[in-house]
Amino acid sequence: MSVAIIGAGLAGLACARTLQHHGIDAQIFESSDGVGGRVRTDELDGYRLDRGFQILLTAYPEVERFIDLTQLDMRLFDRGAVVRVNKRNWRVADPLKKPQLLLETARAPIGSLADKLRLLALVVSASRGSVQDLLHRSDTSTRDFLEQRKFSDRMINNFWRPLFSGIQLDPDLEVSSLRFLLILRMLATGTSGVPARGMGEITKQLASSLAPGTIRLGARAVETTGTHLIIDGGDRITADAVVVATDGASASRLLGIPNPGSRSTSCIWFSADSPPPGIGKFIALDGSTNVAVRNLAIMSAVSEKYAPPGKSLIAASIPGTVGDVGLEAEARKHLTQWIGPVVESWETLRIDRIIHGHPDQRAPLKARQRVNLGDNLWVCGDHRDTASIQGALFSGRRAGEAIAESLGVTP
Ligand SMILES: Cc1cc2nc3c(=O)[nH]c(=O)nc-3n(C[C@H](O)[C@H](O)[C@H](O)COP(=O)(O)OP(=O)(O)OC[C@H]3O[C@@H](n4cnc5c(N)ncnc54)[C@H](O)[C@@H]3O)c2cc1C
Repeated sequence: MSVAIIGAGLAGLACARTLQHHGIDAQIFESSDGVGGRVRTDELDGYRLDRGFQILLTAYPEVERFIDLTQLDMRLFDRGAVVRVNKRNWRVADPLKKPQLLLETARAPIGSLADKLRLLALVVSASRGSVQDLLHRSDTSTRDFLEQRKFSDRMINNFWRPLFSGIQLDPDLEVSSLRFLLILRMLATGTSGVPARGMGEITKQLASSLAPGTIRLGARAVETTGTHLIIDGGDRITADAVVVATDGASASRLLGIPNPGSRSTSCIWFSADSPPPGIGKFIALDGSTNVAVRNLAIMSAVSEKYAPPGKSLIAASIPGTVGDVGLEAEARKHLTQWIGPVVESWETLRIDRIIHGHPDQRAPLKARQRVNLGDNLWVCGDHRDTASIQGALFSGRRAGEAIAESLGVTP
């Protein structure tokens, strides 16, 4: 029995691993020159550049199942954030987790004291009960949800907007509030960080757990049914089942299913002689209106392996934009106001413009969409579950287990 999988992102890799665990032969056909899909890291002159700024939330349940975090040598961000308000940086953190920042958090003008108490109450509510319970709550846009919870505009704009523009590529807080609550739950119950040698180590580790020769690179599928696929160039591959594990837009083209839409983002990677002060291992947010960069992270402060000795690597995220002319000039102008004239000496290493960062998941959130399209044709990827590492892994596993069951195979 053999299964052909199109795409070597997290979903395709998790699907292949699940099938191989059941003793089923699984082959992956990947169009690009490497494994990982959206989770890859490139080495450039001693720097490690992820494909856009991204982090791993260790509380994702599928991470425990598929990833050996110890082997990844995880490096963690500090809990909380540095938030720029009124031209000053303030450190804010959960006072239960970082009591030493209680006073600074209480004084930070990100919102009123009532806003901060509502924030604590929301974190408690998002962490309570099971994920299934949470998914049964009512769903609306994140902005409407925050307004219903009586957060002030100041709190929404200073804090929630820059935080979730980075995490959900959602500068206008349009994404499903259930999606927002799921992420808030993961942030509250776990840690967030990056593997010491870059996010791409996650997918490399998963790929290395597959049988040798599982993945064929540079193989773009141009057509498929449940019994065969055609590779660009004419190769015809036959199989007992075919899984389309691409991003949502490509799956739509190959299968004729609805396109989930895309949330875009850009990231500028800067090299500096010294790290900007006052940020350290926090993610820094700027919620001021009309600014270019929504969040900033000093990757080399979190893991020294992200930059060569004596250098700092800074990731500046600009969610919601991609091809804009003048993006770098705008970002530099903004960062000069934020960090100071030293920004003029920063060198731009690369600008990532990512058209399909996430599938667009507005309310109502459709988690656990069907993976069986009938006639031995299957589909998985973050667009079938949630737009995240967790969603991609989960959908890949779901597809793998369902295929094994349909073929009458037990592990
Ligand atoms: C900038 C950015 C930041 C992010 N930040 C986070 C974060 O902090 N935390 C988090 O949890 N998630 C984050 N995500 C989301 C997360 O990375 C994705 O949800 C996840 O990686 C999706 O995996 P996937 O396997 O579903 O799809 P993909 O990674 O897109 O994999 C699909 C694969 O299919 C291949 N392919 C496409 N078409 C074909 C074809 N015709 N033939 C053969 N192969 C094909 C592609 O080359 C690709 O390798 C971020 C994403 C981006 C882009």
